Amino acid sequence: MLNIEQLSFWERKSFFENNDFLIVGGGIVGCSTAYHLKINYPKAKIVLLERGYLPSGASTKNAGFASFGGPVELIEDLKKQDAKLVWDTVQARYEGLVYLRELIGDKFLDFQQNGGWDLISPYQTNVADDVRNQLEYLNDEFVRITGNKGFQEDKSAIKRFGFSGLDTAFKINLEGQIDTGKMMQRFNQLLHVLGVVVLNGISVLAVDESNVTVKTSIGDIKSANIIITTNGFTSQLLKNIAVQPARAQVLVTSPIPDLKIKGTFHYDAGYYYFRNFENRILFGGARNLDFEGETTYEMVTTPKIQKRLKELLKTMIIPNTAFSIDYQWSGIMGLGESKYPIIEKISNHVAVGARLGGIGVALGTNVGKKVADLF
Ligand SMILES: Cc1cc2nc3c(=O)[nH]c(=O)nc-3n(C[C@H](O)[C@H](O)[C@H](O)COP(=O)(O)OP(=O)(O)OC[C@H]3O[C@@H](n4cnc5c(N)ncnc54)[C@H](O)[C@@H]3O)c2cc1C
Repeated sequence: MLNIEQLSFWERKSFFENNDFLIVGGGIVGCSTAYHLKINYPKAKIVLLERGYLPSGASTKNAGFASFGGPVELIEDLKKQDAKLVWDTVQARYEGLVYLRELIGDKFLDFQQNGGWDLISPYQTNVADDVRNQLEYLNDEFVRITGNKGFQEDKSAIKRFGFSGLDTAFKINLEGQIDTGKMMQRFNQLLHVLGVVVLNGISVLAVDESNVTVKTSIGDIKSANIIITTNGFTSQLLKNIAVQPARAQVLVTSPIPDLKIKGTFHYDAGYYYFRNFENRILFGGARNLDFEGETTYEMVTTPKIQKRLKELLKTMIIPNTAFSIDYQWSGIMGLGESKYPIIEKISNHVAVGARLGGIGVALGTNVGKKVADLF
């Protein structure tokens, strides 16, 4: 690949010089940041650098759950974190989804509100009891944030969807699902129309905060302002920003005739999640089988986790059903101490929007807006 110094005068002038804003990372947050900067500063020259030929983190690889968090996960979070932070995060997810739908449009997202369910096995009766005991409180908070009742027990869902080996379920009324690929295509169309320069295949190797410059795989690029939206990879560039990479693996089955399952489903405190896509099942999770191994930047699938996903498909999700696996992949999330993202300026001209966690589809658009509003 040519170095910037070997490029023509025109190329350097149009694509690499006199940048007002340089954004690193082309996922939901990077795209939303670029979009909102262009709205705030229509005349600004905005360049977005993405190292993959497609975005290569989480935004094109996720499961497409449009969720705010189910009761089981919320109760777990409430045990570990301050209640205000937990509910502020739920609010940020809710408002983020409303805004994503407004910005991209339900048609382009293929948004469907089929509901979500937290599934409970007979070995987790204490979990079910916890949810029952706190259901009123959870719903009160949910009504305060969304105006709607969030959750109710729905035991009959187990039989209705044809699951095996499960005891009960709690319905998450407002949960929806999207087509992740279509969402990112639309984001890219919007950026193109607005005149944001999107350059794929360029890796940022280091950020020089004092000179407001990035060192890249094709040479140094200067900008008046730099914004890092690299989520799970952020600590590779900014050592002081604590974001841990967390790999998540997924598979998609072959089409299943007369599939009863429609909606989004969480199991084992959200460590497993599956949904229908038309008449296929998309199934992800099992990171808790190997936390250490899954704390990695390497985007591959592993036999241990894929085997567990297939077992649960056969025994619990679609028992007595013939299927094969048509797709398997992994993506990298960004986790940390809190589930609330980092949105901050780390110097006068350098900002970060990162640590989107496992429910970043909901948060991403608003995080991008908030990052843009820092300037
Ligand atoms: C398998 C999986 C399933 C998920 N399921 C869901 C779900 O159902 N619902 C939900 O809400 N969330 C889900 N998530 C989480 C959600 O996808 C993320 O929180 C969200 O996409 C994060 O967006 P982002 O823009 O911050 O990061 P990313 O999409 O990871 O974008 C960061 C970008 O930065 C680029 N980059 C990194 N380093 C560099 C560098 N040095 N130079 C140039 N570019 C760089 C990467 O290639 C990447 O494209 C899931 C995540 C995974 C992995």
